[in-house]
Amino acid sequence: MIVLKTRRELDLMREACRISANALKEAGKAVEPGVSTKEIDDVVRNYIRKQGASPSFLGYGGFPASACISVNNVVIHGIPSKKQILKSGDIVSVDVGAFIGGFHGDNAYTYACGDISKEARALLDATKESLYEGIKQAKAGNRIGDIGNAVQSYAEARSYSVVRDFVGHGVGAKLHEDPSVPNYGTPGRGVRLMPGMTIAIEPMITAGGYAVKVLDDDWTTVTADGSLAAHFEHTIAITPDGPVIMTIPD
Ligand code: MG
Repeated sequence: MIVLKTRRELDLMREACRISANALKEAGKAVEPGVSTKEIDDVVRNYIRKQGASPSFLGYGGFPASACISVNNVVIHGIPSKKQILKSGDIVSVDVGAFIGGFHGDNAYTYACGDISKEARALLDATKESLYEGIKQAKAGNRIGDIGNAVQSYAEARSYSVVRDFVGHGVGAKLHEDPSVPNYGTPGRGVRLMPGMTIAIEPMITAGGYAVKVLDDDWTTVTADGSLAAHFEHTIAITPDGPVIMTIPD
């Protein structure tokens, strides 16, 4: 069931999104060589709690941390660890959600740690841009397939692959709501977008093939071929005036 939000609900949700975006930005500032992914998770959790919010991911489906931190060939759902020390050249995807006022915000960004290769930089740039291509299509009257097609076309034109096994989603009072928002699709197909819908668009793009596998911890999702992967995400509201990005930091 797709839940449409009233203007009042969108205002509440904006606060959850603002805190999520600030937490993600704080995480980005902490990404540097020599830092453990656990330390970044601590930054996220402490920031969110200081705002009186709670980390959406902590305990969600049993997830043991406040942020998913996914390095290099890890696509999503990396579990922060004090044993994982970042080094120069790593690309570090951080996915963060915050819950306050009855609503969640959800966003992700892939940060460069120190000096990264030209290939890694190009992947980050293309993944980020594919997100914005998707967002442009997130307008009332369009369909879910228009978003996915925009992301896919942009990424595949640059010889990247779009992960199929994980997709974006509605977000609101629940972290994951209907509809699913794939990063691939056919224009004009799928659920019609309506004002009041709030969705997380989150391209997961790889430098190799699109196949992924989940490791034995049941979370860590890696590219099957070991290639680099990037992940960017915003929570978006569909409004009569077009798409509004909700996850904007201060
Ligand atoms: Mg999400």
